[in-house]
Amino acid sequence: MEELKSQIEDLKLNLSNVETKEYKSCFTSLVSILEAMNDKLEELTVNQETMEENIKFMDNDLTDIQDELFEEVSIDELSDMEQEYTEVSCCHCGNTIFAEQSTLKNNSEIPCPYCNKNIKAN
Ligand SMILES: [Zn+2]
Repeated sequence: MEELKSQIEDLKLNLSNVETKEYKSCFTSLVSILEAMNDKLEELTVNQETMEENIKFMDNDLTDIQDELFEEVSIDELSDMEQEYTEVSCCHCGNTIFAEQSTLKNNSEIPCPYCNKNIKAN
């Protein structure tokens, strides 16, 4: 980038030595175009660096989110959770209810959400 800038400066210097009138105005505008392009290029480079930086941050954030997501519930924990719940049928209405095994074990009365009677006994 700096090299390009100094090349433009050199060219500018060389062209300023051209005394032929008809070329001079042409060269002057050529140099100003080159300078404008160089400025634009610098601007784009800065923007690109900023974007790369942002993408890096976003990538890090994403990795964190992924880590959190997969950390929170592992396969083992998932099957543990499945084992905790069990399917029971209400002995009054016959509807299927998912209940925690500990709840079933520790409570002699569990109200059925369908018929409101105790699913465990008549
Ligand atoms: Zn019921």
